[in-house]
Amino acid sequence: MDELYLALDEQVEKLKERLLQVNDQIYHHPELGNQEFFASQLLSTILKDAGFKVEIPYQNLETGFRAEFDTSRPGPKIAVMAEYDALPDIGHGCGHNMIAAIALGAALALAKLKDRLQGQIVVLGTPAEETNGAKVVYAEQGVFDDIDAAMMVHPSFENALGSSSLAIDPLQFEFFGRTCHASGNPEDGINALDAAIQTFNGINALRQHVTPDVRIHGVITEGGKTPNVTPDYAVARFYVRAKERKYLDTVVAKVIACAKAGALSTGCSLEVSNFEYSNDNMMPNVLMTGIWEEHLRRLGLQDLKPLDLEHMDGSTDCGNVSLKIPTIHPSIGITGGEKVSVHTREFAHSTISKTGQEALLLAAKGVASTMADLLLGEDLLEKIKEEFESKISLK
Ligand SMILES: [Zn+2]
Ligand SMILES: [Zn+2]
Repeated sequence: MDELYLALDEQVEKLKERLLQVNDQIYHHPELGNQEFFASQLLSTILKDAGFKVEIPYQNLETGFRAEFDTSRPGPKIAVMAEYDALPDIGHGCGHNMIAAIALGAALALAKLKDRLQGQIVVLGTPAEETNGAKVVYAEQGVFDDIDAAMMVHPSFENALGSSSLAIDPLQFEFFGRTCHASGNPEDGINALDAAIQTFNGINALRQHVTPDVRIHGVITEGGKTPNVTPDYAVARFYVRAKERKYLDTVVAKVIACAKAGALSTGCSLEVSNFEYSNDNMMPNVLMTGIWEEHLRRLGLQDLKPLDLEHMDGSTDCGNVSLKIPTIHPSIGITGGEKVSVHTREFAHSTISKTGQEALLLAAKGVASTMADLLLGEDLLEKIKEEFESKISLK
């Protein structure tokens, strides 16, 4: 296998100019979620030219795609995921241009060595991670049913082997009441703003009876226009998060009960909806993480932050993938050890810096070798799946 890893490294080196160019092109052409026409066309065209069978649009998402390469020998199907959406005002402050270039590099390198591999290499183009993540749609539509394992690498200020993320439900409560002259005939009014405020009070009481991992944060986006008109319409939006999907479902039921109570106590009617897609918690596969780690060490990275399953930070649509099939979502450091926060212009710039470029190539090599191990190692893949099944049965 060592020879194969070196051959994959060599392929990535040969692709260097192209990969850095793609990374730059997407950086200089930032597109918001579900509008990534430039990036999705760029990536899928390159893959098509390299012999991948490309489907674009994919799952009714215009900027989603699936590219598949068949080695012509039976074997598993392993996917690498490419994100490419940017943020308003700050462009690629989350470095998704680099996620795309890493995935592209790994997939092209593997395809070049098809004679030494088996099974199928899949690249999934997954739009809109920052908002309505496509992975949620893909997971719901059964995209991962015929894929054995999936991975992606996210840039960061550190080399972190992976962590869990919080499951999240973005809830919207709309309260409908009746206007009146707030001073002239207040007895005729039904105050929608009060319903929203009561909802906050109920939720604040709920906080002391949930586990410490729960996060509930809300805003009132509409609550009337002027004090002398009783508001007949109010909207409150909440992100409700917890470490595990199952527990989150019970908390969300209680949060909705608070909104119902707010509506009942004020005489309002209530409509509940999701204002963005829900994400499941990220459940990184430990065995797969081990393979990734070995390759990073082989490639010379020693300063690795261990897998952190207690981590409680944000949420990602990769969580939904991780509850379907074995998945990893490690980070690669691109700032030379300097703690630069993601979602900043400074971080965006790091993706095209010399240090960022080196990290990109190293990560592409690591992904290619990890995927090669999964494509060729039937026993290994079996163990990875066993780990997944044992954990998912506890959920
Ligand atoms: Zn982000
Ligand atoms: Zn991101």
